[in-house]
Amino acid sequence: MTKFKALGLNKALLDAVADLGFETPSEVQEKTIPKLLQEETDLVALAQTGTGKTAAFGFPLIQKIESESRTTQGLILSPTRELCLQITNELQQYAKYVKGLNIVAIYGGASIVEQSKQIKRGAQIIVATPGRMKDMIGRGMINITKIDYCILDEADEMLNMGFYEDIKDILSNTPKEKSTWLFSATMPKEVSTIAKKFMHNPYEVTVGAKNAGVDTVQHEYYVVGGRDRYEALKRLADANPGIFSVVFCRTKRDTQRVAEKLIGDGYNAGALHGDLSQNQRDLVMNSFRKKQIQMLVATDVAARGIDVDDISHVINYQLPDEIETYTHRSGRTGRAGKSGISMVIITRSELRKIKTIENIIKQKFEAKKIPTGIEICEIQLYHLASKIRNTEINEAVDNYLPAIHDVLEGLDREELIKKIISVEFTRFYAYYSRVKDLNTSASSDRGDSSRPSRKGDVASNGSVRYFINVGEKDGYDWMSLKDFLRDTVNIGKDDLFRVDVKDSFSFFNTEAEFKDRILNTFQDFKVDGRFVNVEISKSPEGGGRRSKDKGRRRTKDKGKGNFKERSFSKSGSKRTGKRRSKKRDGFY
Ligand code: AMP
Repeated sequence: MTKFKALGLNKALLDAVADLGFETPSEVQEKTIPKLLQEETDLVALAQTGTGKTAAFGFPLIQKIESESRTTQGLILSPTRELCLQITNELQQYAKYVKGLNIVAIYGGASIVEQSKQIKRGAQIIVATPGRMKDMIGRGMINITKIDYCILDEADEMLNMGFYEDIKDILSNTPKEKSTWLFSATMPKEVSTIAKKFMHNPYEVTVGAKNAGVDTVQHEYYVVGGRDRYEALKRLADANPGIFSVVFCRTKRDTQRVAEKLIGDGYNAGALHGDLSQNQRDLVMNSFRKKQIQMLVATDVAARGIDVDDISHVINYQLPDEIETYTHRSGRTGRAGKSGISMVIITRSELRKIKTIENIIKQKFEAKKIPTGIEICEIQLYHLASKIRNTEINEAVDNYLPAIHDVLEGLDREELIKKIISVEFTRFYAYYSRVKDLNTSASSDRGDSSRPSRKGDVASNGSVRYFINVGEKDGYDWMSLKDFLRDTVNIGKDDLFRVDVKDSFSFFNTEAEFKDRILNTFQDFKVDGRFVNVEISKSPEGGGRRSKDKGRRRTKDKGKGNFKERSFSKSGSKRTGKRRSKKRDGFY
């Protein structure tokens, strides 16, 4: 207590400090409070959250404010709603013995009318997020032309989140003669620029080591074909079990689409974009904070409010239109002293943008490869093993142990381990043991790898285009034809693409590795007595002439694939003549 007294705090504050149980001032408090109490000065303080910085500016501010006057005298800008409320709450506790002092929080996502009413009642101190503050100034709901103190809290975060313009606008509404106190955990270039631009000869305080704020995020890029973005995203997620990430898309539509696809594929994902109501956004953010959502797919604008500290990865599903926005995205990770990874999924034609970003962030990217299916299987396997090791034993199992022993009797340790692992692993393995390599060589001079070449059966991206003699007339659209093909050939939904249904025929693509399987399956394949014929197309656009090269057809591969067991009739073996036939709805 006496130590706080020595800093120069008045009785009202000392009583509050006693109530709060603070015994000794923290380093940042010791370094700033006496100075700010004695002088009208600008200040730049490098201090992380948890160092007691709120009191470091809060105590002097409360002591210097004239609570008898109803004029707004102090403005605190903070990056997020949560921090804004937290600061307000702290300050209210510090000021509990100061009569007539009103501290009001202004932030987005709550009634602007209600906040305006609170301001009208008289708020000597306003704690605000930049977006809502600017909005209220614009509507004439707030007057900050007479403030004496302006505090920028977590300045690096505010800039990371893209609030530079808003802050500039807000400050232009404040008087020249005031003290500005800037608090930041890191000192990247943008923060120094603000300090230079808006402050005069600031007093500098550093708590702990100076951190340039650039080393906590590692930047990586992955070159893939344009059509492989989504598959690449899934693999990056699967190669990082336990990922807690924000996935940035360029448009609201892509954001919604990617989130829906992820959810459909069994990921804990959610969408955050401007077409959602505030209520929907709040729900998504709450789930994200509780880590019920592991992959938050967001637009740049919607992500401004994301204030979650332990995001492990930022994934740029597409690069932003404004390349400068990249720093705001990558700044969502590597916060509060933790490290993070910012990944960019990119096509070859966009590669030059990486150089531009490197110049902006003054950091090098690492060119990385999308993990192969087998690599992912391996990662998942080890993850599973360590998950089992780290799982806390549920004592309730004890009651059932004798019965469980009975069920598992005869299995030795080795077998048991294999079985336990296989429970989850087999699903992964079934999918990933046969997926293609997604990596596109960065040095190749071709553009998007999804563009097929016209040479031979196999396009430059490794895919083959086929003709099939069924189309809209047979009741198909692209989805139902895709389902039919998948079921018949027994291949994964991502292995079949560019399904293009015409009137009486259609086209589709698969990876080259499935070529024989496709051709074999549809050799002499009949549905209700009609031959369904598949041939390799020579037309990359799907509208051209059919292959005349019937010689490509392979004879049936006797031992291969369970597609032979399909319930659809595969007629054509005129040798045996034993064919069952089953009608598919809408086939004819
Ligand atoms: P901050 O860095 O402002 O977010 O503060 C972190 C936490 O430390 C808050 O819960 C404060 O109430 C608390 N705190 C601030 N100053 C002190 C102090 N001198 N002694 C003990 N706790 C403090």
